Amino acid sequence: MIEIHQALSMILERARPRAPERQGLDQALGRVLAEDVINDIDSPPYDKALMDGYAVVASDLRGGRGELMVVDEVAAGDIPCEPLQSGMATRIMTGAPVPRGADAIVVDECCRMDEAGGITTVRIDDRDVRPGQHILGRGRSVRRGETVLQIGRRLSAIDAGLLAEVGRTQVLVHASPRVAVLPTGTELVPACDVPGPGQIRNSNGPMLGALVSSAGGQPVDLGIARDTESELARQMNRGLHEDILILSGGVSAGDFDLVPHVLRDLGVEQVFHGVRLKPGRPLWFGVLPHAKGSRLVFGLPGNPVSGLVCFELFVRPAIAALAALPQVSRPMIAARLSDPFRHTGDRPTYFPVRLEGDRWEGDGDPVQARLLDWKGSADLRTLACADGLALFPAGRSEYALDETVQVMLLERGLFAH
Ligand code: AMP
Ligand code: MG
Repeated sequence: MIEIHQALSMILERARPRAPERQGLDQALGRVLAEDVINDIDSPPYDKALMDGYAVVASDLRGGRGELMVVDEVAAGDIPCEPLQSGMATRIMTGAPVPRGADAIVVDECCRMDEAGGITTVRIDDRDVRPGQHILGRGRSVRRGETVLQIGRRLSAIDAGLLAEVGRTQVLVHASPRVAVLPTGTELVPACDVPGPGQIRNSNGPMLGALVSSAGGQPVDLGIARDTESELARQMNRGLHEDILILSGGVSAGDFDLVPHVLRDLGVEQVFHGVRLKPGRPLWFGVLPHAKGSRLVFGLPGNPVSGLVCFELFVRPAIAALAALPQVSRPMIAARLSDPFRHTGDRPTYFPVRLEGDRWEGDGDPVQARLLDWKGSADLRTLACADGLALFPAGRSEYALDETVQVMLLERGLFAH
């Protein structure tokens, strides 16, 4: 058995980013940029009014006051007819181009319009008027030729808007890894079925698929494989076309735990089998050499909670590496135990906890971690109530009330507090 950190570095050594590909904006969301993005035109492309009102020459107004003749009107999308002369004003709407010669916009609230004998005038009282008021000059936001987004950035929804602003509808991004998910076990039936005698529903398939998506991968559902060599080999072969193959079940020491040797028969080289960890000890990891980068194969233990722990510790970082995402692991926070804990065995142990109190950072008391009445690694129901997993390192058996421990936050912990 190897230690958690050794297992992780053996995985990451073998996890190379996928080749960049050109993608449309909708596909590129959440992906990592593999090029710098340069602006093609000044933005805004013209001096732009930021308010509804009148475009004026600021120096025409003494102490902010004056009466000007209204000669034109421009709405967003219009082009001003002619340059504005001193003594004149142009009615202007938000987003419209400011006429040449004008250097300020006076908002409607400071103006009174008058029409008499076919002549329109505007009386202005705006003490604060100054050149540039309520105008965003051409290129003030981004200049042509400027880099707006840099290589290595994970694209957000805001970035999609910015890319559109600078005329980019396609960008070079690292592809999202394709991750095949294959739960194994003769006892498994799909979630839509009512289990017969000796059968249970396949929880791991949907859970692992969702975890893959949350990690930035594209899940590929391979259904369920029964514990026979031929069926396992057939299904695994399909999975080995993808960047990553995640199996669940069949990696312990039982007579029907056939996964490791079927994988070896298919040419997958074992890197390790067994990690000093609870739950999750039977984890298997191997690689299938491939021209486009090795396929990574994870054999997770069948118990759902063991599978989840292994996913968070080892598979999530591997998906991030293939997607060229920064290695951001699940956040760990310090918390004080509300109950004593007895650590049996010699493996680092993750245990589900509820967090109470809301001062997680700063000088206040650390949040409290209450141990849940967890029935072990098959008990997903209790895990669904957990905010996180408290880590009890190996080597100590008694943890007292109020002792500080580290807690890895799960989804509920991230969103509920
Ligand atoms: P195994 O690792 O194959 O020995 O499985 C360990 C335990 O996890 C057994 O009790 C299995 O029935 C259970 N198990 C295996 N696969 C799944 C699955 N996909 N969903 C729910 N439980 C599972
Ligand atoms: Mg099994």
